[in-house]
Amino acid sequence: MDVRLNIDKLSDWGIPFGNTFIIAGPCSAESEEQLLATAMALKTYHIQLLRAGIWKPRTRPNSFEGVGSVGLDWLNTVKEETGIPVAVEVANPKQVDECLKKGIDVLWIGARTTPNPFSMQDIATSLQGVDIPVMVKNPINADLQLWVGALERLNLAGVKKLLAIHRGFSSYKQDLYRNQPLWRLPLELKRLIPDIPIVCDPSHICGKRELIFDVAQKALDLLFEGLMIEVHIDPSAALSDANQQFDPGDFGRLLKRLVFKNSTSDKIDYQKSIRSLREEIDDFDRKIIEYLALRMENARKISVHKMKHDISIFQPDRWDEVLRSRVNEALDKGITEDFIVQLFQLIHEESIRQQENVLVD
Ligand code: PEP
Ligand code: MN
Repeated sequence: MDVRLNIDKLSDWGIPFGNTFIIAGPCSAESEEQLLATAMALKTYHIQLLRAGIWKPRTRPNSFEGVGSVGLDWLNTVKEETGIPVAVEVANPKQVDECLKKGIDVLWIGARTTPNPFSMQDIATSLQGVDIPVMVKNPINADLQLWVGALERLNLAGVKKLLAIHRGFSSYKQDLYRNQPLWRLPLELKRLIPDIPIVCDPSHICGKRELIFDVAQKALDLLFEGLMIEVHIDPSAALSDANQQFDPGDFGRLLKRLVFKNSTSDKIDYQKSIRSLREEIDDFDRKIIEYLALRMENARKISVHKMKHDISIFQPDRWDEVLRSRVNEALDKGITEDFIVQLFQLIHEESIRQQENVLVD
């Protein structure tokens, strides 16, 4: 996939921020008092951006669907009182328009809007010629292309202050998490679009406060540019996502416990060991490729041999035995079963392809 986006740096957003971009605030704005009390408490933790949903995408009707446009005025009051810039979720051009008129600082696209190309195109068109930062949550389903497509549509419309939010992916399976993190997807997004800042939203991944620390720390370890965390002045009274919101005190304790990482260090001993450890990794990778090539060569020899004796390429019993023994050997060496099964499935597929090619040649 060839992706070329023209993206401004986070430091060009006009929002003062240090090493890590911290966005916090309630799932929903519920009243001016709730919003103000939450924001005042958050001010002590020097967050960069206050989040609050006012149009809430709820799974079923007749749940709390947000306070609507009146919330924009509350956000402006809170911004005046605290000095913290504010962000709102938008799902259509009308909402975009209202936010622009009321001077909202940053917009975000929710996980149910990102996967809809019609909505994304409408929103992008409504932002043509407007210089406002837009944060794009991953689509609710694990489809990287839709995430990229939503970012591309905005970028083609001239939105250059873009950021991606990793909020996990829904699954039909009951899982520890409300939304599975599937870390490889945001990492792949970063590989495709190296300039895109990515913020992790552990609140929506976890669905429960107790799980948030580990996911947030993992995001920092993977060098995400920041975190978006739901904080409510009184989570037990929250009208949406009550189980995943922190009260400001617990949020402060979370920030204190988290270890914020750097992408590199100038210290000589760090530089020296990282270089030699990386050289070793390069060497291991070369050996892996060399051995894979030898393994494929061997598979091709086997196929010639099988052909001579009219034997089928695929032999389920042999494959079953191979997989079992490799899993056992890997487990002894502390490698997970899932990984080794996936790896050998890929190797086996390629091996069969190579054997078929010999037949064709
Ligand atoms: C939210 O941020 O409150 C929200 C609705 O999130 P998502 O779009 O990730 O479900
Ligand atoms: Mn929420």
